[in-house]
Amino acid sequence: MSDCIFCKIIEGSIPSVNVYRDEQVTAFRDVNPAAPTHILIVPNKHIDSVNTLTNADEQLIGRLFMAAQQLAAQEGVAENGYRLIVNTGADAGQTVFHVHLHLLGGKPIKHLIG
Ligand code: 5GP
Ligand code: ZN
Repeated sequence: MSDCIFCKIIEGSIPSVNVYRDEQVTAFRDVNPAAPTHILIVPNKHIDSVNTLTNADEQLIGRLFMAAQQLAAQEGVAENGYRLIVNTGADAGQTVFHVHLHLLGGKPIKHLIG
């Protein structure tokens, strides 16, 4: 997707602070962090949102969570806790239509639910 900002970050044409990379997943620090740790974990392949996932993406989505687990430990937030968020569509405030997991931690995160 030539107009997708996260695809450009993945291919390296827009600068980012990358914290994880493998053949399927990239993670980088959010440019406008909402918490001391705010990392975006994305598939290297372009997928608009949860709405356009297919069965073929099941393993890939699992890899995003495994990267989140590893990064939470690396960032030192695993024990105190962290929040994983996936915004989908306008009502949820999705602004970048390349599916991504927010990893937020390092301070108490305000509850929207629960
Ligand atoms: P969404 O609202 O779509 O769930 O989250 C998009 C996130 O991407 C926002 O938290 C925003 O700060 C972040 N973001 C947008 N553009 C860039 C960018 O160019 N670089 C980085 N590192 N983060 C970005
Ligand atoms: Zn993309």
